[in-house]
Amino acid sequence: MFRSRYGGRVARRVVVGDLRVQQIDRRDGRRSWTIVWPEGSLHAEADRFLRVYDGSGTQRTYAYYLVDHLRWLERECLAFEKVVLRDLERYMGIVGAEVLMPLGEPWRIGKRPYGRSALSTAAACLKGFYLHQSSLGVNCELGKKLDTSRLPTRADRRRAFLGHVKNSLPTNPLAPTRPRRRHPKMLPDGARDKLLAVVNAARDRLVVTWLADGGLRIGELCGLHLVDLHLREDAACGECRTPHVHVCHRPGNPNRAEAKTKLPWRVEGGTVTGGLIKRVSPAMVHTYFEYLTSEYPRGTRHGMLLVQLHGKDSGQPWAPVGARRMLGRAGKRAGLGVVKPHAFRHNFTSAVLDAAGGNLLIARDAGGWASAAMVDEVYGHVDIHDQAFDTALRTVWGGAE
Ligand SMILES: [Zn+2]
Repeated sequence: MFRSRYGGRVARRVVVGDLRVQQIDRRDGRRSWTIVWPEGSLHAEADRFLRVYDGSGTQRTYAYYLVDHLRWLERECLAFEKVVLRDLERYMGIVGAEVLMPLGEPWRIGKRPYGRSALSTAAACLKGFYLHQSSLGVNCELGKKLDTSRLPTRADRRRAFLGHVKNSLPTNPLAPTRPRRRHPKMLPDGARDKLLAVVNAARDRLVVTWLADGGLRIGELCGLHLVDLHLREDAACGECRTPHVHVCHRPGNPNRAEAKTKLPWRVEGGTVTGGLIKRVSPAMVHTYFEYLTSEYPRGTRHGMLLVQLHGKDSGQPWAPVGARRMLGRAGKRAGLGVVKPHAFRHNFTSAVLDAAGGNLLIARDAGGWASAAMVDEVYGHVDIHDQAFDTALRTVWGGAE
């Protein structure tokens, strides 16, 4: 894999090992990350740079991106005070960015090329590192150039498609096939229960449960008004016998939450009809009453379902960004990484599809349907009282409880 001119280096690497990221557990319980040489001494320049982000997640992330770059410099026999912009562009290219230049020896063999967000992070990390060097008087030439230029961060789709450096790493026909990866945007198994175990507010339990069981978008959920909820059997709208909500597009919501679907809806005699109708699970009803009786403020005028619980805006409508942040934090506490609301929708749809034996019509309508009275054109629809539809949803909800 390595040509002879790298022979010596390869030998050294085998004997001594690589630069590596070192995690430091501190007495106060916090952790920080730095980069050390194979024999254990600090990589002084990397350490100085990483200290800027002391103890943060960024420090850890940057440590891993930077160590890859520093190893590459070693392999290329480049000292970082000699690095020029073109070297950095070539490095970005070799980890997966679209660049028009020869890239040299393969790198990160057997690993996937960086995707779009990893490329952005790598670019930010490298730029930060070299600007930091320049501020200390090292390689100021490069620092000046970096101040005014962007490193390439567009993923090279062609190479991603070809498997990056596949030609240098023939697949082994005897190797066992790996289990099929789940859709990367899906939630990990058991995410719902793990999240419910770490959130503190009834409101947040509602959010997790409603996203998981209802397949709602976060904008739809945060945009709900209390009048949109028909949680008792045989609601006055006459559009669905079982508990359900009407997702209504309201561009004027004070928290700017907006339903994506703009189906017509109206209020007559205090009863909402139309909009996107979604069925509601028993667990959703339960979390709703728990929230309404314990945390929902009395005497609000806005009439929106989700409100802020703390601070000066307590009782005011809760914006989707607040809900996203809550989920992001809860995901980290639960050890799931950052949880994004849309992942619940992927899980919900795929669970319904499984439960409905692949019936796409059921899967589509489980995510909401327009009331027959509100749509002019006739198109394929599941009868909402259809047994298979009902069974699919109950299977999904039952399996989740
Ligand atoms: Zn209704």
